[in-house]
Amino acid sequence: MTRPGVTVVNHPLVENSLLALRDVGTGTDTFRRHARLLTLILAFHVLEDLPTKEIEVQTPLERMVGHAISRNVIFVPVLRAGLAMLDAMSDFVPGSKVGFVGLERDENTAIARSYYQKLPDQLAGAETIILDPMLATGGSASATAELLKRNRAESIRLACVVAAPEGIALLQERHPDVHIYTATVDRELNERKFIIPGLGDFGDRYFGTT
Ligand code: URA
Repeated sequence: MTRPGVTVVNHPLVENSLLALRDVGTGTDTFRRHARLLTLILAFHVLEDLPTKEIEVQTPLERMVGHAISRNVIFVPVLRAGLAMLDAMSDFVPGSKVGFVGLERDENTAIARSYYQKLPDQLAGAETIILDPMLATGGSASATAELLKRNRAESIRLACVVAAPEGIALLQERHPDVHIYTATVDRELNERKFIIPGLGDFGDRYFGTT
């Protein structure tokens, strides 16, 4: 099913890594490896339409004109799980800047509460990419987009690994301008606001804190 404002990245390599991430038997090292591989492929799509400018270089044989990214890119991992996507994404964009947003969800109400933020000054005019692997209720993503807009961000995208229909709906209701890139849209949230079938707690599995 195609949804406006949502890009679901379909690729056999994505499917393969996603399966490994979902498998409860996958240990921390393998989970990290597949999280990185999948993020690298997501990055292709998230960054696909970035503007470029012509740059002249000298190859060992002659001078030529190539293209380099001409827009400032700011990655904003939502702590802590978003950190899992940072290295792979930012590897593609030399000179990119990183802002941090710390949000915790209250286990009872599932409402996101901010406990930390550190954002670069240059949000206006930059392409800002929120990194948050699990778009569950949409509370954290919406709160982050809100915070970024209050700090003058003009163009915001969200990169995640698994999205729930409920999270997509909330983010699109509150921030219809934020395009969502995901490897999959899962069925639903359970009563504890975990994504079903999902992959469990992404941060715990990536950082080995289960
Ligand atoms: N965060 C996670 O890590 N997993 C979920 O299923 C939902 C939110």
